[in-house]
Amino acid sequence: MNTDRFTVLLFDLATGKGERVQVEGRDRVAGGSGLAALLFDRYGQPGAAWDAPEQPLIFAIGPLTGYFPLMSKTICAFISPYHHQYTESHGGGRSAMALRLTGLDALVVIGRSPGPCFLEVGSTHAHARDCGFLWGLDVFETGKVLRRMSKGSGHRSILRIGPAGENGAAIAGINIDTYRHFGRLGGGAAMGAKNLKAIILQGDGVLQLPQGNRYATLFAEVHNQVTASGMMKKYHDLGTPANLESLNDLQSLPWRNLQATADEAVEHISGQRFAEEALLRNSACSGCPVGCIHVGFVREKFMDSHRYLYRQVSYDYETIFSLGSMLGVTDMSGVLTLLDLFEKAGMDAMSAGVALAWATEATAKGLLSVQETVVPLTFGDCASYRQAAHSFGNGLNEFYRLLGQGALKAAAVYGGEDFACVLGQEMAGYATGEVFFAAQSLGFRHSHLDTGGYSYDQQHADKDVDAAVAFLVRDEASRAFMTSMVACLFARNVYTDTLMAECLQALGYDGLAATIPECAAHIQKLRWQTRFASGFHPASISIPKRFFQVATWKGPIDPQYLQALQAEYGRAICALAGR
Ligand code: SF4
Repeated sequence: MNTDRFTVLLFDLATGKGERVQVEGRDRVAGGSGLAALLFDRYGQPGAAWDAPEQPLIFAIGPLTGYFPLMSKTICAFISPYHHQYTESHGGGRSAMALRLTGLDALVVIGRSPGPCFLEVGSTHAHARDCGFLWGLDVFETGKVLRRMSKGSGHRSILRIGPAGENGAAIAGINIDTYRHFGRLGGGAAMGAKNLKAIILQGDGVLQLPQGNRYATLFAEVHNQVTASGMMKKYHDLGTPANLESLNDLQSLPWRNLQATADEAVEHISGQRFAEEALLRNSACSGCPVGCIHVGFVREKFMDSHRYLYRQVSYDYETIFSLGSMLGVTDMSGVLTLLDLFEKAGMDAMSAGVALAWATEATAKGLLSVQETVVPLTFGDCASYRQAAHSFGNGLNEFYRLLGQGALKAAAVYGGEDFACVLGQEMAGYATGEVFFAAQSLGFRHSHLDTGGYSYDQQHADKDVDAAVAFLVRDEASRAFMTSMVACLFARNVYTDTLMAECLQALGYDGLAATIPECAAHIQKLRWQTRFASGFHPASISIPKRFFQVATWKGPIDPQYLQALQAEYGRAICALAGR
């Protein structure tokens, strides 16, 4: 086999036709993040609008997908409706394995369908089908209908959008197999703009495993390392919600639109509390023995009856932060109910919660009234948030449609930019300090996972700008390689460069195995070049005042340190992109 080649399906929704093409470059970009940037360079239109029909929507996996544990993520790349620049969103579920079993390294969707459609891709077929009857349905109903309609025999994954994506909300996500998402920066709207309601990946091919003992022995070793590493316990038992109490203890958990960073009410929404009272079961992405997905339940009473409907909702730290502490909601079933509503609408629950928190403070300050928000918004008032979530998720009035473009867009009209908790996009739940605030603001995906800025804050009370920026640049390069593999980042301590090189060699990727550091540096540079070409510049990012008013375990934020970090990290990013 030619190990430098990728197999890519290029599908044009305008014509309803697809073709498999071979693309060279494995040794330079590995797959996943690197491959997505390579494909955007080939098929993307950096100067065109985010919703121009020719803009590609890219899904890419890595060379180890399906062959080793936790190589279970897919990269989705597109021009974001949020900031109109190139971005990536990462998701798991069954998507990566299903794509592997179609025989593809990547799927590139271009064109706009004349009407609502879904795309089905298998190892020997690819076709778009009309589905006007699905348009307007929520994410769960859509999943139900598509599962009934597509009776394939393979390992199937269903990606779909809800009303938020159809309506062009810049914080609409793509749901993957009910419990996972390409959540952030508007992938749902990128799909909706193509009239693409869903993609069914019908993994009906066969995965040939390498012959001989070498692969089998290495697989067993990696599996043992993963299961013995402590990951199983940490991520399986309480999962990421364990962070609520520890971040609250560190005065780093955003409460009520980041007006506070700790509150003793955390005990009502702690990981322990969710595990004891709301957890139904754990679930896992394909190929993952850890199973960090926590599925809880909410109970809904039927009107005028004593009967109840139980709904299953997956929760994690980020969504408990955004729909719990950030809104002052400290009732577990209230958090899960809000989460369920945003899930149904297909809206990123992290961004939605943070945007609603801004609207709540704007209401308290007299900038908004029920004329805009439909119901009066008050921190902690879950009943009002339920109604607001329905209006917001489904874009039922002009105000909520504007809020769906992001809190800063709404603040530009109504005022309140100073307290919009936006760091490139709505903040992740880490008020850990200056390094994280600079890192999310300027990070490639504006994600807490771009770098370990939040953990750097927790370990360093010093204010060494050069050391912090050097850490961010170095850490980003290694994560960029991991997301080109495409590994779950929870496994980053297991998959060292040495172990990844062994895994690559076991599959015959000797060239790539020998050049991991060079390849990581190349991918990091390529991604930034792609982002700059689509309009990004660090100088265009400003950090709202609210972040300068926060106090963490290190004391009040030091404005000079934060500004120096922002300037220096911006310079480092420009240097990476050759600007
Ligand atoms: S640890 Fe969790 S997110 Fe990561 S692959 Fe496993 S189930 Fe998926």
